[in-house]
Amino acid sequence: MADEVELASKYESLERINGISQAARNMHKRSLVSLTHCLECGEEIPKKRRQAEPGCELCVKCKAWKEKGGAFWP
Ligand SMILES: [Zn+2]
Repeated sequence: MADEVELASKYESLERINGISQAARNMHKRSLVSLTHCLECGEEIPKKRRQAEPGCELCVKCKAWKEKGGAFWP
């Protein structure tokens, strides 16, 4: 499906930005190491936030949006 391909390439590029593969990402989740860039929008996650929330994958904006139950940017 086109959407899946789009999503896959989006994550692929974000993984490249973060310098990680899917496997590394799974490991990352268990190791609670925060990503340097938001998985949703690709923006840099401030170091303070990464330290405050180990294992975080989203920037504050995206996290807040998600917690409100919002769908991600269409
Ligand atoms: Zn974000």
